Amino acid sequence: MRPKIGVFSFTSCEGCQLQVLNLEDELLHLIEQVEFVNFREMMSEKGENYEIAFVEGSITRESEEGDLERIRNKAGILVAFGACAHIGGINVLKNVCPKDMWLTATYGRRDLFSDTIPVKRIKDVVDVDYVLPGCPIDKEEFLRFVQALVLEIEPRLPDYPVCVECRSRGNICLVEQGRWCLGSVTRAGCDAICPTYRDNCTGCRGLTEDPNIKSLFNILLEKGFTREQIESKFGLFNGLEGISGPGSTED
Ligand code: SF4
Ligand code: SF4
Ligand code: SF4
Repeated sequence: MRPKIGVFSFTSCEGCQLQVLNLEDELLHLIEQVEFVNFREMMSEKGENYEIAFVEGSITRESEEGDLERIRNKAGILVAFGACAHIGGINVLKNVCPKDMWLTATYGRRDLFSDTIPVKRIKDVVDVDYVLPGCPIDKEEFLRFVQALVLEIEPRLPDYPVCVECRSRGNICLVEQGRWCLGSVTRAGCDAICPTYRDNCTGCRGLTEDPNIKSLFNILLEKGFTREQIESKFGLFNGLEGISGPGSTED
C-alpha cells in the first residue's frame, strides 16, 4: 500500500509546494511510491484520508489554528514544510511592525483581515513530527525524506552548519572578505548555494542544534557591523528565536 499524503498551505508564497512539482522527471517515480490525496497546487481532489501531512506556511489568522488542528488530528505524521512553517520565515517581519502600518501599506485600509494575529510557527500550535527546512525546501531533500518514510527509516537532517558544505565547495569565506554571513550557525543541507554564488547566507534553514551565536556576533562586530545590523540579519528568517547581541538584556 502506498502511504497517502496531503499537502496543505497556510500563509506562504507556496514556493515549497512548487519545488515538489519541479521534481519533473522524478515525479512519476514518486507517485508510484506514494499517493497524493490532497495537494491543491497539483490536483483538484481534496481527500481527507491522508496519513502524512506536509504543512507549508505559518499561522497568521485565528481561523487557521482550527484548520491546522484538524489536519493534525487526521495525520499520523505531520511535517513542517519550509521556512514559513518551520521558523515563521519572512512572515515574522509582520510581528515587528505596527499592525496599522503594514495593513495600510499593503491594502490601503486598516479594517481588512481583522482576525490577523502575530505570526506563529506550526510547532507553536500543534505537535510537529519532522521538519523540512529552507526557503524554499530542497526538492532532492524532499525526495530523500519521502523515500525514508516509505522505507520506514528515520529521516535525518544534517546537524552541521552551512560552512561545512561551503568549505567543501572550495569557496572563499564571505566573512573573511568583510561581508556578513550566517552560515556558521545555520543548518546545512542546501549545499551552501548562497555563498557559492557569493550571496550571504540569511539562515533560511534555521539554526543548528547548538549554534555559537555569541561567537558569530563578536566576529561580525569586529568586522565593523553594528549590533542592530546583525540582529536585523538574524531577524529576516529567525525573528522568533529571540536572538540579540552583546549588551542587550537577553545577553
Ligand atoms: S518557505 Fe519560502 S518558498 Fe516556502 S512557502 Fe515560505 S516563503 Fe515560500
Ligand atoms: S561564506 Fe558563510 S557559509 Fe561560507 S564559510 Fe564563510 S561563513 Fe561559512
Ligand atoms: S545558504 Fe543559507 S540562506 Fe542560502 S539556502 Fe542555504 S541556509 Fe538558506
